[in-house]
Amino acid sequence: MSTVDRFVKVFNLPPALIPYVDLIVTSQEMELVVGLGAQALTVAEVAEMMRVSEEEAGALLTELFRRDIVDRKAADGGAAYTVGNFYTNMDFWTGFEVGSWQRLPPQVRGAVSEWQMEEWLKLWEREMDIIRRDPDTYVRMKNRDVLLLEEALDLVGAAEAICLLPCACKTTTMPGSPIIEGSMRLGARARQTLERGQGRSLTVDEAKAHLLALDRMGLIHTGPRAWRAHDPQQEWISHGNCHPAYSFPMRAGMRLGMTKAYPRVHHVARVDWDACTHCGVCIGRCLFSAFYHDGSVESVHGQKVRQVKFDPEPCWGCGLCASACPEGVIVMEQIAG
Ligand code: SF4
Ligand code: SF4
Repeated sequence: MSTVDRFVKVFNLPPALIPYVDLIVTSQEMELVVGLGAQALTVAEVAEMMRVSEEEAGALLTELFRRDIVDRKAADGGAAYTVGNFYTNMDFWTGFEVGSWQRLPPQVRGAVSEWQMEEWLKLWEREMDIIRRDPDTYVRMKNRDVLLLEEALDLVGAAEAICLLPCACKTTTMPGSPIIEGSMRLGARARQTLERGQGRSLTVDEAKAHLLALDRMGLIHTGPRAWRAHDPQQEWISHGNCHPAYSFPMRAGMRLGMTKAYPRVHHVARVDWDACTHCGVCIGRCLFSAFYHDGSVESVHGQKVRQVKFDPEPCWGCGLCASACPEGVIVMEQIAG
C-alpha cells in the first residue's frame, strides 16, 4: 500500500480528494500521520520515528494540532499525539485555509461537500432519531435550536470563554463569497479551540456586540435553548449564526424531512396589523418569504400602499423581522417548549 493510500485510510480522506492531497498536507506531514497510525506518541517518540530533532518534531506536531490533523492528550511522559480525521479537519480547512479549498474544481468541492453531509448524517444518526420521535427532547448537538436574539445574548452573556470562528458552512458552500465570523464556541469548547491556536478570543461585551452585528446582517442564531438546565457550565456549547442557503444543520434537517425539528423552532411571528404601516421592512428581512406582497392595496394615513401579508407556515421563528420592524408591531409567540 502506498503512503498516500495509507494516509487516506488512517485520516479518513474522502476519495474525491485523493488527487489533491498535497493541498492538505506536505509529504513530511503525511509521513508523520501515517507513522502515527493508531498509536499515541510523545514528541520524543515522533522525533525518533521521523529521524528529526525533538524541536523539529514538536514544531511539526504543533502545526498539525493547530490544523486539526492530529489530536493531543495528556499522557505519562508528556503530551501524546494521535491522528485526527478529515471530517473534523474540514471545518478548519474550509474556514481558515479557504484559498486551497477554492483551488479545487467545483465538481470536487461538490463531491466533498456531499461526503461531509453523509458523514454528518452517520455521526448524528442516533440523536436525529431521538429528535424525530420527540422534537423537544434535549440532545447535545450543535445548532440544536433556533434562538431569538435575546436568547443568544443571554447564552454568550454567561460564557467564561468565547472563541469566534469563520463560518465554515458558508466558505464550504459558497467559496469566493465574503468570509463571515459567524460561529462561536463557548466554555470548555472555546478553551480547547483557542488552545489549538484557532479563532480569536472575545470578551462577553465583544461577543454581544458581534452578535448584534450578525443580527443586523440578517443571520439566524442557533444554539442550545435549554443550556441552563443541561449544560450550565457551558462545557459543550457551540453557537452559530446561520442562513438557510448554506447552513449545514439547516440543510441536514431539511434533507431528513425534519424541518423545524432540527434546528428546533420555538416561536412564530405575530403581527398587530392595526398598527402595521405596511412599510415592507419585514419582507426584506425574512429569509423564508413568510412576509410577502400579493398585489393587494391598503390605505395607511390616507395613502394607498401595497399591503403586506404574512403566512405563519414558512416562519422559522427567528425573530429577525421583529428586531427590524420600525413600528415594533411584531412579537414572537412561543409555540414549542
Ligand atoms: S416591518 Fe413592521 S410595520 Fe413594516 S410591514 Fe412589517 S410588520 Fe408592518
Ligand atoms: S417571519 Fe418568521 S422566519 Fe421570517 S423573519 Fe420573522 S420570525 Fe424569522
